[in-house]
Amino acid sequence: MEGYCVDALILDVDGVVWLEGTLIEENIQVIRRAYDEGIPVVFLTNNATRSRRVYSLLLSEAIGRRISVEQVVNSAYSAAEWLRRTRGPSKVLVVGEEGLVEELVLAGHTPLSTTEWRHADTVVVGLDRNITYHKLSAAHKALTRRNAFFLITNRDPAYPVTGGTIPGAGAIVSFLETSTGRKADFNAGKPELGILDLALERAGRPRNPVMVGDRVEIDMDMARKAGIPGLLVLTGVTKEPPSDTDGFIVAHSLSDAVERGLLRFCPTPSS
Ligand SMILES: [Mg+2]
Repeated sequence: MEGYCVDALILDVDGVVWLEGTLIEENIQVIRRAYDEGIPVVFLTNNATRSRRVYSLLLSEAIGRRISVEQVVNSAYSAAEWLRRTRGPSKVLVVGEEGLVEELVLAGHTPLSTTEWRHADTVVVGLDRNITYHKLSAAHKALTRRNAFFLITNRDPAYPVTGGTIPGAGAIVSFLETSTGRKADFNAGKPELGILDLALERAGRPRNPVMVGDRVEIDMDMARKAGIPGLLVLTGVTKEPPSDTDGFIVAHSLSDAVERGLLRFCPTPSS
């Protein structure tokens, strides 16, 4: 198998850097090496419950190097930034957690309380572990009676925890799509390409990036759609190499990929 010669790493977080809070050393070693060799490293996650600020702290601690806010792209930032660039500062009714609200405020949007749903021009939906019927009703009303724009952070149906899975943002999106009879207008998360484009922008528009992730239908499908090489690591959700590996390669971990010559660092001379 032909290996990848890469000048940037775009890295999924859950299942690549850590799994349920446990660090995945066989990946982190290589991430650290990339960092030390000046290879741009950008972290790309669908998790919108934390802000990039919080991620940069957690990732700096995990990697043992300073990971800046600019090296983190999550679906909360992607949603907030997409909304700012395409529709301008908005009045948003948020179904989501603190991290999503923080990114929306940073991008210049105004979060509304549930009683203010009449003033919402956009409903932003992400994972909300404090979801209530009241909050969903406010979002439903803004979507059906105000025809608010329906923006979502991702459609992940569930995510892994010890012993199984728990409902993801996609389950909450489905609730509102069912109740309103509307489809979400824009998905700011993986596997859509908008969020990947933000990560590539952050990485300095590399010529030979690689997308590293643990999920075929999210990380690898996105990379394939974008025409970017993918590297599926078996350190997260996916435990066995899939039968169809069109457009990506599979390794047990980043260390395994490096040891087998599937991944090399080829920095582009700085311009
Ligand atoms: Mg993952």
